[in-house]
Amino acid sequence: MWNAIAIGSHRTYKKGVQFLAKSPVSATDVPMELAITIDVEEEGLFRKSYESRTDLTGNVECLAKLDHVFRKHGIKPTLFVSYAVAVHSSHRAFLSDLARQWGAEIGIHLHHWNTPPLEPLPFPQPTPSELIPVELLRAKFNNVLDVVREMNPNPVSFRMGRFNLGAKMFRVLEDSPIQVDSSIAPLRTEYGGPDHLTAPSDPYFPDSSDPRRPGHSRILEVPITIVPIYPGIGSLAEWISSLSQATKYLVRPATKYLASLSAQPMATGLRRLKAAARLHQARQGRTLTLYFHSSELLPGGCPQHNTEADVTRFIDKIDAFLDWAIEELEARPLVMSKLRDLYDTSFADSPAQGSETDPREQASGMDMKERSRAG
Ligand SMILES: [Zn+2]
Repeated sequence: MWNAIAIGSHRTYKKGVQFLAKSPVSATDVPMELAITIDVEEEGLFRKSYESRTDLTGNVECLAKLDHVFRKHGIKPTLFVSYAVAVHSSHRAFLSDLARQWGAEIGIHLHHWNTPPLEPLPFPQPTPSELIPVELLRAKFNNVLDVVREMNPNPVSFRMGRFNLGAKMFRVLEDSPIQVDSSIAPLRTEYGGPDHLTAPSDPYFPDSSDPRRPGHSRILEVPITIVPIYPGIGSLAEWISSLSQATKYLVRPATKYLASLSAQPMATGLRRLKAAARLHQARQGRTLTLYFHSSELLPGGCPQHNTEADVTRFIDKIDAFLDWAIEELEARPLVMSKLRDLYDTSFADSPAQGSETDPREQASGMDMKERSRAG
């Protein structure tokens, strides 16, 4: 019986994806902003090895493989660069050139397990940021900030390694020049937490004490686009995972593979990418945020891409998706800092979309304008 239910559910899911991917854009849908973000980082992380030191950064030059696609679509990506990469002057020169050619923005990517100072902690790596003393997190952040400044004197955008953002790391960001963060992966859980199961799918100004929900911070949070299939499913998943360790481990694959649609090109087919984007737009989502890693452009750099042909297929998929998103959704490519400007001004009167929080608790337009002045 369970098999029949599982097969039936899978068929329903597939039909839903097909329907969404082909559904026409309605007159009430607004054009979307399109943020393409790339974590520019060392190799080896897909082997689940979190070394405290690494020199495996040859993949960075593979970013040039995206040149024809980005130029064709006018993509202005945001490059979140890790310490292991930014510490090399040759990579800094290469990335600075690329940023100039593409109109890209260079931001900060903190891999807390290999960014100095390296102090032993009594937890397995990658140690969740909530278990790291805040002053140690701050020192690591300042070190990566220093090397990234050699390329971009005023970096304002940030992403935390493994999307491991909680209140502690957010406090470090609020005390820094960072204005826009993209470290929330909605409907996802990570080792040691904090879980992002109930986080909004569209940009919002977070609550400083819990960046997973809207509030009054001056920093704009730009989650990667992952959309719940049923609104409220994140809260249900959070409740189930609070019951026991066993249910917690059940929730992780269920929310990832059944309860959400991901607009992330890695391991997502073109049809599901389109379905996720359409569902997000239909729910009044205003920004489509995609991300992938520079190492995915290197054959052998991730488990899915063993050959150059695999990498080419991946880039072709991104190309086809961008074709569709720009044509069908009227998606407009822009960098993170421009997105923050937009949410501070043009979008300031609208509440955050895709949140599971009570809309009455969401920040009002006036709150956003006050924050804009403060920021
Ligand atoms: Zn990373």
